[in-house]
Amino acid sequence: MNAITPIEPGASVALGAPIDVTIENVQKAFGDTPALHGVSLDVKAGELVALLGPSGSGKTTLLRILAGLDAPTAGRVLFGGEDALGLRVQDRNVGFVFQHYALFRHMTVFDNIAFGLTVRARGERPAKAEIRKRVLHLLDLVQLSGLDKRYPSQLSGGQRQRVALARALAIEPRVLLLDEPFGALDAQVRKDLRRWLREIHDRTGHTTFFVTHDQEEALELADRVVVMSKGRIEQVGTPDEIYDAPASPFVFGFIGESSFLPVTVVDGAVQFDGAPLDLAALGTPSGPATLGFRPHDVTIVDDDQPALTGQIVAERRHGGARRLDVEVGPERHRVEIDMAVEHSRREGGMVAFRPHRWRIFAR
Ligand code: ATP
Repeated sequence: MNAITPIEPGASVALGAPIDVTIENVQKAFGDTPALHGVSLDVKAGELVALLGPSGSGKTTLLRILAGLDAPTAGRVLFGGEDALGLRVQDRNVGFVFQHYALFRHMTVFDNIAFGLTVRARGERPAKAEIRKRVLHLLDLVQLSGLDKRYPSQLSGGQRQRVALARALAIEPRVLLLDEPFGALDAQVRKDLRRWLREIHDRTGHTTFFVTHDQEEALELADRVVVMSKGRIEQVGTPDEIYDAPASPFVFGFIGESSFLPVTVVDGAVQFDGAPLDLAALGTPSGPATLGFRPHDVTIVDDDQPALTGQIVAERRHGGARRLDVEVGPERHRVEIDMAVEHSRREGGMVAFRPHRWRIFAR
């Protein structure tokens, strides 16, 4: 794929007015298997929302319900205040892009993009010249001008996904649903497309749901991130809120590298193994709690201030740092910490460290 040049700021592209989407207590079971347990979410017109969660957390099920491909067992979905569940798929006016949403192989790029318009009933179908204008405009938007006569087999994976997006946009959707649209592409292409999609979104302003299990992708792309686990929403927030103020150990662990230790909070101060740690836990009730920290948020110390100490059981290179596996406390809880590469290797030895950023979760 050729590198994607940044989209020039220019006239915004009016492609159907964006709408609010309200999801109210949506439940879904497949036979006896619950897939969604009462999911509620308000999405504002024009927002780009990432549905983020591990495999099986219910992301695709929620997206399929929004699309009208599946019906919920209970709950409501409103598009612009209007009950969407009563509408057929074709009347919901949603655009989809899926990870393996194969383009029609026997059709040119032009015909693929035009497809959703050409199959409309005669009364609703735009005139040929209008379809042509719209397709060429979309090709320009997805930066594939000049490739309209090619067949999908003559495109790279990234170009195919851009055609798939143009095809989804062609019908002037009110809502855009993207299910891991870049999942099958290699890391660099994904990164390019991610940035490009954000620019497209800023120009077209669709209300967009983007499914991913890649936290970096969600944090970089979305206005708000919806973290899902086991059919429930664990947290909804801006990327900063999700990263800096995770609501649970699950979110903390899912959103970045993390280590946890069982601690006790006594009057707003943290203790590990009966010893104070000099870490504040204001607002956390006294009692058992979980301390979470990220490997790069610790300082290796060599003083007599309170610190965590443990034995280094493994060492490896990790990006710009040296990553240590350390066993802490009498129960040998294993945590990961980073140390500057300038430090000499000392596997088997002891190390003392203090988290300089951390989270405390009451248990
Ligand atoms: P992934 O990231 O792997 O795509 P996901 O978060 O999108 O996962 P879903 O595909 O929504 O998860 O699945 C949620 C749960 O519902 C899973 O336990 C899954 O096995 C189950 N499930 C999904 N579709 C069906 C189906 N058609 N029949 C039975 N169970 C299903």
